[in-house]
Amino acid sequence: MKKWNMIIDVALCENCNNCTLATKDEHVGNDFPGYAAPQPLHGHRWIEIKRKVRGSSPMVDAAHVPTMCNHCDDAPCLRAGLDAVRKRADGIVIIDPQKARGRRDLVESCPYGAIWWNEELQLPQHWIFEAHLLDQGWQQPRGAHACPTGAMKAIKIEDSEMQDLVNKEKLEVLRPELKTKPRVYYKNFHRYSKCFIGGSIVAMTDGRKDCVSGATIEFRREMDIIDVQTSDMFGDFKFDFVEPGSGAYVIAISHERHGRAQVSVNVATESIYIGDLMLT
Ligand code: SF4
Ligand code: SF4
Repeated sequence: MKKWNMIIDVALCENCNNCTLATKDEHVGNDFPGYAAPQPLHGHRWIEIKRKVRGSSPMVDAAHVPTMCNHCDDAPCLRAGLDAVRKRADGIVIIDPQKARGRRDLVESCPYGAIWWNEELQLPQHWIFEAHLLDQGWQQPRGAHACPTGAMKAIKIEDSEMQDLVNKEKLEVLRPELKTKPRVYYKNFHRYSKCFIGGSIVAMTDGRKDCVSGATIEFRREMDIIDVQTSDMFGDFKFDFVEPGSGAYVIAISHERHGRAQVSVNVATESIYIGDLMLT
């Protein structure tokens, strides 16, 4: 049976918040019986954009990650909710707007913080994947419709096909260690979850400091070479996908005309811009 999944490309998200606003436009003040009661005007962010800035000037990048209910297949809210939360055959999780009334405990049941408490209605609420629109034949939820970059796309396919896509596109889910089996997947998630080590290669030419393009940079751990890059026209290099807290590495640089340099770096929680590395 085909089921809904959401794929979000972190590299394409520009933090415009259109997805958040379109979802608000759909739900604030609007009642969809059987699906969701109205979202309050203030306080709820059923789609919430997280932000991570990596590096330091001049090598800085920012990643934005829209987060929402993951419509988990093994959902803690489903276990806690009993008949107040149900999983549809198409994968979508619905917190029943009638049966869940008064169930404030459900807010705590979601390890992703994706359930919001509606004080006025005494109701736990979440992003419903716009199931009420999909059931009318819509192909995308409001947020994906409003996304100007195509960063957000819903797809209804068999789970086996989705698994092939996960492997092919290297898709990741939030907090896989929880084993909740989310149906929201992220592409290029390393831009949020991993660190980079970067720097700029320079050398003295005619008494002047110049950037060095075409230098070979080895990224090593003890004697093992993990990756090799060539510096670009500005002399810059950037090794991405480095695990936070993974410890000590060596950057070894060589250029046939300008010489060599070597530096040790220790990766704690943040990305590192080493700065200028002078070849001698
Ligand atoms: S993300 Fe939270 S609210 Fe959504 S299905 Fe998973 S546990 Fe339930
Ligand atoms: S609409 Fe698209 S680009 Fe804008 S914040 Fe949402 S996912 Fe990102």
